This record gives sequence, C-alpha cells and structure tokens, in this order.
Amino acid sequence: MIPAPFDYVRPGSLAEACQELAADEDAKVIAGGQSLLPLLRLRLAYPSTLIDLARVPELHGVRDAGDHVFIGAMTTHDEVLHSDVVKSECPLVALATATVADPAVRHRGTFGGSLAHADPAGDLPAVAVALDMRLVARGPSGERVIPAAEFFVDYLETALAPGEILVGAQVPKLGPGWGFRYEKFHRTAQAWAIVGVAAAVRRANGAIEEARVGLTNMGTRPIRATAVEQAVRGVSATDSAAVRSAASHAADDTDPPADLHAQPDYRRHLAQVLTHRALLTAAAA
Ligand SMILES: Cc1cc2nc3c(=O)[nH]c(=O)nc-3n(C[C@H](O)[C@H](O)[C@H](O)COP(=O)(O)OP(=O)(O)OC[C@H]3O[C@@H](n4cnc5c(N)ncnc54)[C@H](O)[C@@H]3O)c2cc1C
Repeated sequence: MIPAPFDYVRPGSLAEACQELAADEDAKVIAGGQSLLPLLRLRLAYPSTLIDLARVPELHGVRDAGDHVFIGAMTTHDEVLHSDVVKSECPLVALATATVADPAVRHRGTFGGSLAHADPAGDLPAVAVALDMRLVARGPSGERVIPAAEFFVDYLETALAPGEILVGAQVPKLGPGWGFRYEKFHRTAQAWAIVGVAAAVRRANGAIEEARVGLTNMGTRPIRATAVEQAVRGVSATDSAAVRSAASHAADDTDPPADLHAQPDYRRHLAQVLTHRALLTAAAA
C-alpha cells in the first residue's frame, strides 16, 4: 500500500526540529519508522510533512548523569542493548529491550519512538512506569520533565503537547540490592507481548523490602501493579507460595484487551503467573 503524499524534512538540530514541528500542526516526527510507516501505508496516518529526527544529535546516545542514566530518544534498541551504562545501571531496560521484536527491527526502532508511540503492548512503557522514569520533552515553550506515571495517557496517547518532541528519558539509578526480571509471554518468538511483566525487587536479610511491578498489555496504557507491590513487601524472597499469593493481585484494577490471541480472563491469569515468576527471579538475582 502506498502512503498519502507528504513533504519530508531532515533537521540538523533539536531547535530546528522544534521549529519545523511548530510551523505545521499536521506535521509528524519520524524516528525509526517501525510503527509509523505501517500506519502511513495503511493510511491510518497522513501527515502533511514528516520531520526525520535521524540527524538531530541531541537525541542520540546514552550517558551516565550521576543519579540517573539519560537515554536519548533516537537511541536505537540495538544501541541500548550494547550500552555498558544501561547494562550496569538500569539492567531492567536491557532485559526488556532484548525481547523487542527481532534484530532488524531493533536496529531501526528507537527507545524514544517506543515510548512516544505509547502502545500498551510495547515492552518499554511498562519498564518506564516500573522504574519511575522521567520523560524529557522539548516544545515551543521550552523543556519540561514528565513523570512516566503521567506520560502514558491512553491507547497510543501520551502527555506530549502538540509541537513537543520527546528528547529522552532520565532513568533513576536504583542502587545496590536490587534484582530485575522482564517476563514476556508471546505467541511466537520475537513477537509482541500477549502479556509482559517488568519487575524490580530490593532484598534485605532474605526478605523482599520493596518491589516495583509494571504490566504490559493489561489495559489501554502500561499499568503499575501497586496491589502486588504492597502485598509482597516483607515476604521471604524464597517463599514461592507467599510470593504467589502477592502476585494473585496482578490483575487488580486492570482492563486487559480481547483480541485474536487472548481473551481478558486469559490475560488476567497470565499476569498473575508471570508476576509470580518475575518476582521470584528478580528476588533471586
Ligand atoms: C515486526 C515488528 C515487531 C515489533 N515487535 C515489538 C515488540 O515485540 N515489542 C515492542 O515493544 N515493540 C515492537 N515493535 C515496535 C518497535 O519497538 C518500534 O521501534 C517502536 O514501536 C517505535 O519506534 P520507532 O523509532 O520505529 O518510531 P516511529 O515508528 O518512527 O514513530 C512511532 C510514533 O512515535 C512518534 N515519535 C517517535 N519519536 C518521537 C519523538 N522523539 N518525539 C515525539 N514523538 C515521537 C512518531 O511521530 C510516531 O507517532 C515491533 C515493530 C515491528 C515492525
């Protein structure tokens, strides 16, 4: 299928990209194109202009910024996977990114594109809410920081205002004592999650002191499983039955979709099973 006609610009700086976006309300930015191009080809999106962010240097790369790691929006999934800083300081990002699609998609698709696209079946939004990432946006009125809990508004909808570009994410460093796991149930290898669970667990004296749990594809946006986080606090890190009991709250306050691959009941069951596995594995890591 052939997209509707559009103009194409490739700015060389963030200021220029913001100017282009502010000048045309029907323009759209393109990152890796892995989600946007299919939408254009199906004519579900028909922007007047595509603003290609590939050559905006401010959006590329990973850097250690003291209390957090900054991941630029245009950093590809593959670059994230090969970053030593990501591996050592925010391993949950690496674990989830390793499950995104296949190597070809990971070479084109970007970290920021996955967050800005806000597909609740995407693997990185759940990690963003679990880790309390802070999303940095630049627009006509300057730069602002949006907590992940406020960034994902609804299905494919974010808190980015018209004219705003996602610059990247500040990923807080959790420090020592934490273990991590991303559990993903998919129909075939390298496919989208039917359900996914991102877990970070802090242990002390053999018990789970704190847990953070984010759910993929359990609603119209990524969900923080706060009932599980509360129930698992203080539980022995090796007590499988007690962790299972806490994980039984994983489907609380969720609204999973029904599609060709799974009904909501099945997704609720999966969320509980995967949360149990993710917590136990993270607690043992
Ligand atoms: C076959 C296939 C399988 C896939 N499987 C998975 C999977 O298992 N798990 C998973 O998580 N993802 C999967 N994806 C999606 C992949 O992760 C994409 O990288 C991601 O969804 C979009 O990133 P992108 O850089 O390609 O963004 P694009 O497609 O270029 O853009 C997506 C949307 O985000 C907006 N956007 C992009 N960057 C910015 C920015 N900096 N600021 C503001 N808006 C921006 C665009 O305007 C557009 O609306 C798959 C994709 C394909 C094609």
